[in-house]
Amino acid sequence: MTQVLAPLGVVSLILYLFNSFTSLSITVFQHRFSTHKSCELSFLPKFIFRVWLWFTTGIKTREWVATHTKHHQFSDKDGDPHSAVFPVKRKFWGILKFVVWDGVWMYVKFNENEDEVAFYSKKFDSDKVEEFFSKNSVLGLTLWFLLLLSFSLLIGSYIFENAIWVSILCSVVLWVGTVTWSPLAAAGYVNGVCHKYGYRLFKTPEFSTNTGLTYYCTKKFYLYPLIPFTLLVDVLIMGIALAGEPWHNNHHSNPRSAKLGFAKWWEFDLGWVTLRILEKLHLAQINWKHVRK
Ligand SMILES: [Zn+2]
Ligand SMILES: [Zn+2]
Repeated sequence: MTQVLAPLGVVSLILYLFNSFTSLSITVFQHRFSTHKSCELSFLPKFIFRVWLWFTTGIKTREWVATHTKHHQFSDKDGDPHSAVFPVKRKFWGILKFVVWDGVWMYVKFNENEDEVAFYSKKFDSDKVEEFFSKNSVLGLTLWFLLLLSFSLLIGSYIFENAIWVSILCSVVLWVGTVTWSPLAAAGYVNGVCHKYGYRLFKTPEFSTNTGLTYYCTKKFYLYPLIPFTLLVDVLIMGIALAGEPWHNNHHSNPRSAKLGFAKWWEFDLGWVTLRILEKLHLAQINWKHVRK
């Protein structure tokens, strides 16, 4: 049993790091740069984010931009390509179903309409790299599995002398765990939970929310002792694993701001921190005019 549990513990940690980087790639490259033009990126970070997304998601940036652009135009109204609360006001199980299935299904259905995709992705600048990745999304996902398998066999079986079947199991868990992350986290959680549960600091016309827990503990004196724990959850899950995207009501209030976690002190935003570092390295340029302080 321990020969499986120890490697699976390591796999869980790797999954956390890998999926955080997937969220970071989506929010910086696809969301803040490609869709909202809230920053410029140099070739190097752009290429790293694209390769990573090619391996772990198979998402075509043009389709992502089109879906998200339309989401902002018709948020939670007729025409929203993936509203979790319109036209049916879902309750808990309905939102859970949206996170697990409906979010990604609606995304796929929307992108079957080429006219709509072309219309809503007009501002997206494609290039040869993008075209290659878009045409070969299955190749990216296949290469990703082969990479994971090679590293698992090399590190797990050759260096740490685990049984070969344990290494194969670890690579399968890593592949499934990374490939299912963007449908669940981006299409499901952000578009589902972040339009239903959480606090609203801005009276926007749709139902967007921020889903941090610390907010609730600051409201009642007797909940103050819980703040260190809720802060840990907010930073590790909302800020890092989801790279700041759950500060979604902030985002809808000011979509062009490169900073999403701008309203409260606990709203850690890995996407913003990364952009600041890239800017210091002259690898990104933030559109400061729209940044909310
Ligand atoms: Zn939204
Ligand atoms: Zn947006």
